[in-house]
Amino acid sequence: MVEGPSGAGLDSLTVSAIDGHPFSPFGFTGDRWALPDVRMLSPILPSKVVAIGKNYADHIKEMGGDAPESPLIFIKPSTTVIGEGDAIRLPPSSSMVHFEGELAAVIGRPARNVTREAALDFVLGYACANDVTARDQQRADVQFTRAKSYDSFCPLGPWIETVLDPADLRIVTRVNGEVKQDGRTSQMIHDLPAQIAFISEIMTLLPGDVILTGTPAGVGPIVAGDTVTVEIEGIGTLSNPVAAGGKQ
Ligand code: MG
Repeated sequence: MVEGPSGAGLDSLTVSAIDGHPFSPFGFTGDRWALPDVRMLSPILPSKVVAIGKNYADHIKEMGGDAPESPLIFIKPSTTVIGEGDAIRLPPSSSMVHFEGELAAVIGRPARNVTREAALDFVLGYACANDVTARDQQRADVQFTRAKSYDSFCPLGPWIETVLDPADLRIVTRVNGEVKQDGRTSQMIHDLPAQIAFISEIMTLLPGDVILTGTPAGVGPIVAGDTVTVEIEGIGTLSNPVAAGGKQ
């Protein structure tokens, strides 16, 4: 658990080890470190990442096409997930990889046929995410699986914020410090409760599963050497370098 005074700089935050897991009441082991002294891993290893496409009107405009009547969902495999500071690896098979800054919701307890009204009770908390996409392959394939599924294509973090109202948060994506996306979660076409209700009618959402809620306008390319940051009001900033991929 990361703790510190509200509005404090990152250097003054501390990380405390918990005994047990975050999905039920837990205690602390007493071990504590300054945030700059630890390497942040992805805050969760989900069984699946369910992502929403075409969920902001301005983004639909820049991509072309119409707003979907129901949430348009696709799956990113769990092996796409990386944490704060980990490198996004560009696959040699793509010549156009895009960033997509998004609010991520982490599910806290099994959710099946959840109503819109009850939906947020099933959320453990929120994180910043980047729905990295091989745009050329997405266009070539029509469907999304290959383009969205490369290892490292789901940066998630820097942590899970558990006390937050997701309805109207500013979300800003920067590449090398330059603002590329600047939207608000209130601009979603299908809001998070609607997404959870829709998805949980199709599949059971398990504790730790992640929903990527869609990206605002301003998506664009990243190349090796870039650094992408996704900053969400009330959560923090997720920062990832971009590196050439190829054989590891
Ligand atoms: Mg997306």
